[in-house]
Amino acid sequence: MAILNRIAEFGADMTAWRRHLHAEPELMFDTIDTAGFVVEQLKAFGVDRIETGVAENGVVAVIEGQGPGPTVGLRADMDALPIQETGGVPYASHRPGVMHACGHDGHTAMLLGAARYLAETRAFQGRATLVFQPAEEGGGGGRVMVEAGVMQRYGIDQIYALHNWPGVAPGQINIVEGAAMASGDQFDIEIRGRGGHAATPHLTVDPVMVAMQIGVALQTIVSRSLDPLARAVLTITRCTAGNTYNVIPETAHLAGTVRTLDPEERTALAERLQTMAETLAAGCGAEARVAYHYGYPPTVNDAAATAFAGTVAEEICGAAGLQRNARPSLAAEDFSYMLEAVPGAYVFIGNGASAGLHTSDYDFNDEIAPTGASFLARLVERAGPLAR
Ligand SMILES: [Zn+2]
Ligand SMILES: [Zn+2]
Repeated sequence: MAILNRIAEFGADMTAWRRHLHAEPELMFDTIDTAGFVVEQLKAFGVDRIETGVAENGVVAVIEGQGPGPTVGLRADMDALPIQETGGVPYASHRPGVMHACGHDGHTAMLLGAARYLAETRAFQGRATLVFQPAEEGGGGGRVMVEAGVMQRYGIDQIYALHNWPGVAPGQINIVEGAAMASGDQFDIEIRGRGGHAATPHLTVDPVMVAMQIGVALQTIVSRSLDPLARAVLTITRCTAGNTYNVIPETAHLAGTVRTLDPEERTALAERLQTMAETLAAGCGAEARVAYHYGYPPTVNDAAATAFAGTVAEEICGAAGLQRNARPSLAAEDFSYMLEAVPGAYVFIGNGASAGLHTSDYDFNDEIAPTGASFLARLVERAGPLAR
């Protein structure tokens, strides 16, 4: 492994920052103390410019290199999850019911490590722009930062982010070509029939029967309406109707999630779901109202940026510590909005044999931070190499 020496030297500092952040987790856009800590560190490192209050409690910082060159964005997420921590680590969350169960404490610490190194060494041309965002876990903080004009204001022409991945060897980098993560949409279907006595179904329009038919029919969308090579999933997670044994209710409800790696299939899925629910209900004499809620779009890696990230990862991790063409995930991620705005890549770094993301005994593996920070810093140095 070729972890940058200077970063290896302050590995213990990154561990301390990470554990401090771990003990004081904050939810959604309320990353007030986290942003305060990030700003305090960035000031100590001597970065050139700091903007606070972006997307409520996001932070953007700039480190100028030597002379003109590309502007590379590096992004970390700062928010935690509403989970009660159970792992029993000595630096466990001080805040009841809130914990860093997705490792965003580690992502923030790795980006701080890269910032410290880049501010000290400045061995690059162009500019590094560090983006610390709130509200990845459901609030779309990444979208809010893009809408706040961060990409244009700082002239970011390429952007990268890391996410730790349990079950992958510690510090191994996995890079997915194309879509790395899926869109995450939700739907609600209200089926309105006509209620009545359970013994006289012919005098009613039974919404339960209609809901069951729609539920089965929706399962044919992925298998019959999409290209078999498309990667998508439709899951019904809620099915409610009625409250007793002898009454056919007026209404029934279905709800669930639709995820796909393909932006075009996404629209087709939404349209098919709506048409199928409405026409099936109509055929039964009932009415279906579909509310389709678009969530995060797929996280799509740019081909050139992915190849570049692969070269840098190989330099840091060696060929044995890098997996190109890694499997994508059907989880969703709001870095997708940044990748819609500018080319870049979303890269996974192995967290070792830890508990899974979003579980109460998960913990970020501090051992991997020097590798992650070296990768991020090296992206900037290789994007704008110093003239010899
Ligand atoms: Zn998460
Ligand atoms: Zn996460």
